Amino acid sequence: MQRDPLATNAALMARRNAAVARGVGQAHEIFVARARNAELWDVEGRRYIDFAGGIAVLNTGHCHPEVIAAVKSQLELYTHTCFQVLAYEPYVELAERLNALAPGDFAKKSLFLSTGAEAIENCIKIARAHTRRAGVIAFTGGYHGRTLLTLGLTGKVAPYKSGFGPFPGEVFHALFPNELHGISVADALVSVETILKNDIEADRVAAFIVEPVQGEGGFYIAPPAFIEGLKKIADRHGILLIADEIQTGAGRTGTWFACEQWTVAPDLIATAKSMAGGFPISGVVGRAEVMDAAAPGGLGGTYAGSPIGCAAALAVLKVFEDEQLLARSRAVGARLIAGLQRIAQAHKAIGDVRGLGAMVAIELFRDGNLARPDAELTKRVVAEAARRGLILLSCGTHGNVIRVLVPLTAPDALLDEGLRILADSFAALQ
Ligand code: PMP
Repeated sequence: MQRDPLATNAALMARRNAAVARGVGQAHEIFVARARNAELWDVEGRRYIDFAGGIAVLNTGHCHPEVIAAVKSQLELYTHTCFQVLAYEPYVELAERLNALAPGDFAKKSLFLSTGAEAIENCIKIARAHTRRAGVIAFTGGYHGRTLLTLGLTGKVAPYKSGFGPFPGEVFHALFPNELHGISVADALVSVETILKNDIEADRVAAFIVEPVQGEGGFYIAPPAFIEGLKKIADRHGILLIADEIQTGAGRTGTWFACEQWTVAPDLIATAKSMAGGFPISGVVGRAEVMDAAAPGGLGGTYAGSPIGCAAALAVLKVFEDEQLLARSRAVGARLIAGLQRIAQAHKAIGDVRGLGAMVAIELFRDGNLARPDAELTKRVVAEAARRGLILLSCGTHGNVIRVLVPLTAPDALLDEGLRILADSFAALQ
């Protein structure tokens, strides 16, 4: 492939900075030329291993041939009718497939949208329509999107919420349990009850919204006892339970939805990101009578559930079956955890190695002191790894977590190569 000698990362960064709004962040000063499975190449021809997966979008890898083929054949048929004007079968088939995959011994229905934030907005609309209540309780450190309602639900001010308020009312934040940082399951459940005592009557609360594993918040896993306790409070007061599976879904945690590993079923599930392997589509799957609460015309959107997104999502589901990617997710997770634990043994800054399936992270502390989260070192490790050819993302309310969202289709040799680069990066910074 012929490369444009003027298209260096630095030159493109200068154009970007002059032309693109400052508020759009960028983790790495790299411009991509092409990508395949878990590898990508920049405009200067440099190769990288991708442990970021476009923030949890590429569980089936960059440009999976089956997904690309499905999109190409859809492109030849029709690209847009607007489902609310003229319907198409792939949307219905995708709804049938996800309804069958979602946990819970009750009838389910789905609807499709375009972005994760839109799926969350629709979860809240549907929950309010069904319960005829306004209140929503979300959790500290949670992340639910960048629209004004989803920012209101998000439990972290900087950089997401700063300067953008006021946010829609009737949203409250309870504590998310986090043993590592001193918040027990009991503390978290008490904080929910406290909101019901101090801020809003239980019979005005429509829903609890929770991530099975907090994504942007730092890859903290919701303990089973917390979810069970939350569900008990929900049932006592007729409050719905919403699982935000935008980052955890589509096989990342070893099951299609992470909430399949719960002992209770959520009433609504928000899904997006990896469900369509790089094409924009999101959805809400849930209890049929709840999903049907909104009147015809109340839900939807011009591009919502686009034929391209539906075709891609159906192809992703087929790839999961053909390549047994749920089992692979668990194997990738085990390999990453073992590799990261080995690195942690040599570097005491790594105070925790954790994961659910292939949703894996390490957390960094100054001298391994759990009271001193080390965001600075985290930034330096991520930058050093990128210089050495490994793309990583940080996260966490303290900015001290390095997360791995590598495609599940990545071969073991590539996982090991990525882990080696990470180990070398730690060693170089010692
Ligand atoms: N919820 C969670 C848990 C997410 O991780 C994200 C995206 N990082 C969103 C919601 C918002 O999705 P989108 O950026 O597609 O609007």
